[in-house]
Amino acid sequence: HAVPEHVAVDINNLSFAYPDQSQMALRDISLSVGAGQHVAILGRTGCGKSTLLQLLTRAWEPQQGEICFNGEPLSQFDETALRAATSVVSQRVHLFSATLRDNLLLAAPQASDEELSHALTRVGLEKLLEDAGLNSWLGEGGRQLSGGELRRLAIARAVLHDAPLFLLDEPTEGLDAETERQILDLLAEVTKQKTVLMVTHRLRGLAHFDNIIVMDNGQIIEQGNHADL
Ligand code: ATP
Ligand code: MG
Repeated sequence: HAVPEHVAVDINNLSFAYPDQSQMALRDISLSVGAGQHVAILGRTGCGKSTLLQLLTRAWEPQQGEICFNGEPLSQFDETALRAATSVVSQRVHLFSATLRDNLLLAAPQASDEELSHALTRVGLEKLLEDAGLNSWLGEGGRQLSGGELRRLAIARAVLHDAPLFLLDEPTEGLDAETERQILDLLAEVTKQKTVLMVTHRLRGLAHFDNIIVMDNGQIIEQGNHADL
């Protein structure tokens, strides 16, 4: 598998229940996202938004239905190809007890120190470069990050990884309005030619999204653009 330049996503009649759960977390989800389209996913807490994004990273196997990237079932991709195709910001960001450099390099092993520093600056984390710079120790035995710093570290990783499909789970959760603006502008800039699925709680800033889907109780109950909804 070469890394595709563009990714179109097709979700067909997808249903999923977590192991040992009788309740379905996703019910008969069908959704087509053309290459380069931007889709926002809204809905009340617990409705299945994160679960849907997780199935797109193949974290779980659906009991029914299928997900395809460029017409090819996700099950056909190997781990490396799948990772190369997706830039992911999950709702719970994992910080490794390692240097700041290594926490970023796992997303972009080839990146230079300059590129890493630039990515940190773009997400407003240049402050982390004070003192020990990229050698700063993070996590256990080192510096802990605030929730908002952790989110922005994850966004820096996604931007560095620069994959054709961005899967963003509430990327600006917990950020103040000004920082949120900065991050949404950055994401809009870096994903211009990319496919995006973004979970969010707010309608604000979604005017340029091609499709906004609203979920409830594991189903898509509404979709349309900003003007329709
Ligand atoms: P939020 O807006 O709070 O992030 P969400 O829409 O992302 O909510 P999900 O995290 O997808 O919701 O959860 C959907 C349902 O699946 C919920 O009822 C949740 O309790 C359940 N669930 C999520 N993760 C697991 C898991 N690992 N095992 C069992 N049930 C889970
Ligand atoms: Mg969630």
